[in-house]
Amino acid sequence: MTEHADVVVVGMGPGGEEAAGRLAQAGLDVVGIEGKLLGGECPYWGCVPSKMMIRAANLLAEARRVPGMAGTSSVDPDWGPVARRIRDDATDDWDDRVAVERFEGKGGRFVRGWGTLTGPRTVAVGDRRFEAGTAVVLATGARPWAPPVPGLAELDGRYWTNREAIEAEAVPESLVVLGGGAIGVELAQVFARFGSRVAVVEAADRVVAPEEPEASALIAEALARDGVAIRTSARITGAGEHDGGFALHLDDGTAVTGERLLVATGRRPDLGALGVACIGVDEKGRGVPVDERLRVTGGVWALGDLTGIGAFTHVAMYQARIVAEDILGHDPAPATYRALPRVTFTDPEVGSVGLSEAGARERGMSLRVGSYPVPSSTRGWIHKVGNEGFIKLVEDAGRGVLVGATSAGPSGGEVLSMLTLAVHAEIPTDTLRQMIYAYPTFHRAIEPALDALAPAS
Ligand SMILES: Cc1cc2nc3c(=O)[nH]c(=O)nc-3n(C[C@H](O)[C@H](O)[C@H](O)COP(=O)(O)OP(=O)(O)OC[C@H]3O[C@@H](n4cnc5c(N)ncnc54)[C@H](O)[C@@H]3O)c2cc1C
Repeated sequence: MTEHADVVVVGMGPGGEEAAGRLAQAGLDVVGIEGKLLGGECPYWGCVPSKMMIRAANLLAEARRVPGMAGTSSVDPDWGPVARRIRDDATDDWDDRVAVERFEGKGGRFVRGWGTLTGPRTVAVGDRRFEAGTAVVLATGARPWAPPVPGLAELDGRYWTNREAIEAEAVPESLVVLGGGAIGVELAQVFARFGSRVAVVEAADRVVAPEEPEASALIAEALARDGVAIRTSARITGAGEHDGGFALHLDDGTAVTGERLLVATGRRPDLGALGVACIGVDEKGRGVPVDERLRVTGGVWALGDLTGIGAFTHVAMYQARIVAEDILGHDPAPATYRALPRVTFTDPEVGSVGLSEAGARERGMSLRVGSYPVPSSTRGWIHKVGNEGFIKLVEDAGRGVLVGATSAGPSGGEVLSMLTLAVHAEIPTDTLRQMIYAYPTFHRAIEPALDALAPAS
């Protein structure tokens, strides 16, 4: 028998939950289908618990910075409170009862199970069949992707993904992190600060390769200070077991070994399992193509990691608002990603928005670039130990507006906020120069970076 609803949402991560909740609150009959936990990756195995780990690791780092600044300190790391906080406070021991009640409190109907699209308006969950009168919203996120390294597939289920790293009850004696992207470097620093011997193996010639080269260098130096060994431009010839742990073999004949292996080489959607071929979407693609209102085809919307536009909770939630407004017929402003912010929560933190210098150059813009080191700012100088960082601004010289910016350093992700606004609202750099910047803040370093804007060589 077919069950009817106005809207069927498949996948209830931050994006699906936001869209489904808004539509249910607006009075529509909404079915939310989730195979695992309502809330998705972010609260259970992603943003929230990883930032709890980072908070704890940063406390250790700050305590280690006391000598020479404020007396003496002795630090004895204990993973117990971190694991407990993640289990008890963040995830309710990976139980989504509260989230389900929250959704049902908004009037939604929750269905636990894996949904498969069987037509533009129909979704099957086991032997149940749902038909949407108004819309189907696809929000099934992405799952860890491992590169085709010989031997790695055989280790599947034994190596860590982000899930096992977040659920860890103990710090491994040693850890090999395959992949130096944001997740890889964040977790590498956490475990190193808790005493693990950590190595990061990255195929690109630098970590966090999509960011400015200066940001990559800053993070690499910070990781090195924490004792992390970094192998960039690594050509991995094989993966296997070693001495009860794991080994990655490199083409120079060396091997990087550790008790645990964390594969952090990105995430990709599982389009085959979702059954999108029935609406004409290529199941082998990297995401579900959408237009600027997140429409896939008549009556079907997609959002979040599934779209491959930006694997961030804030992107999923931004898109969810547009989807909900569009389904409600409120004619939302089209999605624009010009000022998409990103933060890598290492210490120092690296926040960035819009285009990198190289990205802007690729678009053929005539550029002016300016930067300023945080340690040279008054606040950076006061801060002293742990003050590494910089502000870098990328201006479209023709229009006199910022098209990209990086703020790295203490609270770099917070300093990013006004730069995000500047890129989003295309505020003229002349206007930014006329502002008053509070003294002595970290964001005040933006002012000399503006003064330094000069044609890029
Ligand atoms: C370690 C880590 C740290 C991160 N840190 C940050 C951060 O600091 N800031 C940030 O913005 N982002 C961060 N992210 C990324 C963020 O978690 C994702 O971008 C976000 O969760 C995407 O939301 P989503 O709704 O698209 O998908 P997801 O959160 O992946 O949710 C999709 C849901 O759909 C379900 N599902 C899948 N297929 C089906 C199906 N066929 N039927 C029913 N249900 C299905 C899944 O079980 C899942 O619950 C981090 C990710 C990781 C892994």
